Amino acid sequence: MPTYEYECSACGHQFEKFQTMNDQPIRKCPACGKKKVQRMISGGAGVLFKGSGFYQTDYRSQGYKESAKKDKSQASAPTCSGACNSCPAKS
Ligand SMILES: [Zn+2]
Repeated sequence: MPTYEYECSACGHQFEKFQTMNDQPIRKCPACGKKKVQRMISGGAGVLFKGSGFYQTDYRSQGYKESAKKDKSQASAPTCSGACNSCPAKS
């Protein structure tokens, strides 16, 4: 169950609330009673997202490096034994 952080834009009161995905976002501030509460992006959920983002970036760059290396070795490998007219080894 994720912890959501809320901040009241009317009085600046900040608080955390355990909620399920199905729960409605809190709108009413428990400190001043005004419906000016907004859910904050930062917090536990944000850190978790950031961490998985780092992992995805690492994984993607690693995969890109691997595929680039593969492409390079394929390009430098001879595709024919000099039988074609466009092969530079023949001329
Ligand atoms: Zn408030």
